[in-house]
Amino acid sequence: MIICHFDLPRCFSRFERPDFPLKFSGASPLAGAVPYAQCYGGHQFGTWAGQLGDGRAITLGEILNSKSERWELQLKGAGKTPYSRFADGLAVLRSSIREFLCSEAMHFLGIPTTRALCLVTTGKLVTRDMFYDGNPKEEPGAIVCRVAQSFLRFGSFQIHASKGEEDLGIVCSLADYAIRHHFPHIENISKSETLSFSTGDNGQSVVDLTSNKYAAWIVEIAERTASLVARWQGVGFTHGVLNTDNMSILGLTIDYGPFGFLDAFDPSYTPNTTDLPGRRYCFANQPDICSWNITQFASTLMAAHLISDKEASYAVERYGTKFMDEYQAIITQKLGLQKYNKQLVNKLLNNLAVDKVDYTNFFRSLSNIKADPGIPEGELLVPLKAVLLDIGKERKEAWASWVQSYIQELVASGISDEERKASMDLVNPKYVLRNYLCQIAIDAAEIGDFGEVRRLLKVMERPYDEQPGMEKYARLPPAWAYRPGVCMLSCSS
Ligand code: AMP
Ligand code: MG
Repeated sequence: MIICHFDLPRCFSRFERPDFPLKFSGASPLAGAVPYAQCYGGHQFGTWAGQLGDGRAITLGEILNSKSERWELQLKGAGKTPYSRFADGLAVLRSSIREFLCSEAMHFLGIPTTRALCLVTTGKLVTRDMFYDGNPKEEPGAIVCRVAQSFLRFGSFQIHASKGEEDLGIVCSLADYAIRHHFPHIENISKSETLSFSTGDNGQSVVDLTSNKYAAWIVEIAERTASLVARWQGVGFTHGVLNTDNMSILGLTIDYGPFGFLDAFDPSYTPNTTDLPGRRYCFANQPDICSWNITQFASTLMAAHLISDKEASYAVERYGTKFMDEYQAIITQKLGLQKYNKQLVNKLLNNLAVDKVDYTNFFRSLSNIKADPGIPEGELLVPLKAVLLDIGKERKEAWASWVQSYIQELVASGISDEERKASMDLVNPKYVLRNYLCQIAIDAAEIGDFGEVRRLLKVMERPYDEQPGMEKYARLPPAWAYRPGVCMLSCSS
C-alpha cells in the first residue's frame, strides 16, 4: 500500500513508476545519491542523554528542484542505522500515519514543518509495547518518506561538542555548512551593514552581529524558534517531546510522536504519557522549554568558541522578545482586534480553562459575535452557545462580563463585522487534526482501508475553510477518545 501526495519535488510526480515502492521502502538507493544516517545527541527531559540517533531515519539524498530549492528526502522506519543502539530501526503504521497526517496538517495551517511525501506499508509485523507495561503487541510496519530543507537539529551540534576539544572543529564545520546552505544571507552579511544591538545590563554592552556570523546565525535560529512556538500556541498544538534532539535549526516542527491539539483548554495538557509526572512538555510550558533548548544550543556554540557568552545571552533575550511579539500578534488576530489587550486575553484564557472549553471551536465561534453594545444581557452568549456547554449561572455571568468587555474592544476597533469575521476565520482554524480523528483513520488503515486517511488529509488541507458536509471533522472528541493510546500516547512507535 502506498499513499503518496505532493506538489513539491516534481521529479516524483510520476509515482506510478514500478521502482517507486523499492526506492521509498529503502530497498534501492536513489540514482546518484549516497544514503546516510545522521549522528546526534540531545537533552531528554532536561538531562544530557548522550548519543541518541538517528536510529531509524535514513537520508536517501538531496534534490534540487526547478526553483533551486534543496530538499532532503529521509525515510523513517526503514531499518537499523549505525545509531540504532538496542532498537530495530522500524516504525509502526499507527505512528507513521500520525506523522504523515500531522506534518501535512501543520503545513496547511501555515506552520513551519517537515513534510511527508509518501507512506509505504512494509507487509511486516513490528513488535511494540505501546504502554511500556509488559504487554508487547505485533503491529503492521510502515515507512514514511519525509522531506525538509534540512533535518539538522540542535542535538546534531551538541553531540560533537560533548566529545570535548578534539571534536569542536566538527561543530564549526557543521555550522559553516548549515550557514552556507541554509542561511546564505548570513554567509553574505556585508561588513558595511550595521547590525549591532545593545543588550541587557542597561544597554551598556553591544552585540555586533556583522562581526560574527555565528552570532547572527544563532539569533536567527532563536527568532525562528520563537515564531514557531508562538504559532503552536496559537492553534493549540502540543509537541509532547521537546528534547533538544527534536529541535530543528530551521525552526521547523520536527519528529511527530505523542503530539496533540488541545481539545478542552487545559494549559497543563501533555499528550505524552512519559511526561505525566512533571508535565515538562505541557502546552503552557512550550515557550519556556524552547528558551531552555536555545540556551543549550547557545552553550554548544560557546563551547566551540564560535560565540561569546554575551552573544549567547543576547540570542536567548531575542528569543523572549520575538516570542512575546509574535504571540501577542497572533492572539490579537485570533480575537479580531487591532491591538493586544492583556487583561482581556488573561481573563479569556482563565475562563476557557475553568470551563474546559474547546480551544479550536471557541475561537472559530468568536467571529459570530457582533460589535453591538446594545445586545441585551440575556443574549450575549447566543453566538457561543454551541461551545459553552454545561455551564451554570455563575459561569454564564463570568462569560457575559467577558463578552461585554470584548464587544467594547470590537466597537473601538471600528472594523465591520463582516470584515472582521473574514479575517478571524483566516487564523482560527475550523479543522485541526484531533487525536481521535487520527485514531479512526488508523483503526481503518490497520485492517487495510486507507480511505479515511485520504479523506482526513483532504479536510486538513483546507483547515480555515468551512467545507460543507465535513462538519463531523470539527466535532469534540467522543468519550472513547479519552483513553490512553488516543488522547495520550507514549513514545513507543
Ligand atoms: P524520539 O523519541 O522519537 O525522538 O526518538 C529518540 C531517538 O531514538 C531518535 O534518534 C530515534 O531515531 C531513536 N529511535 C526511536 N525509535 C527507534 C527504533 N525503533 N529503532 C531505532 N532507533 C529508534
Ligand atoms: Mg526525535
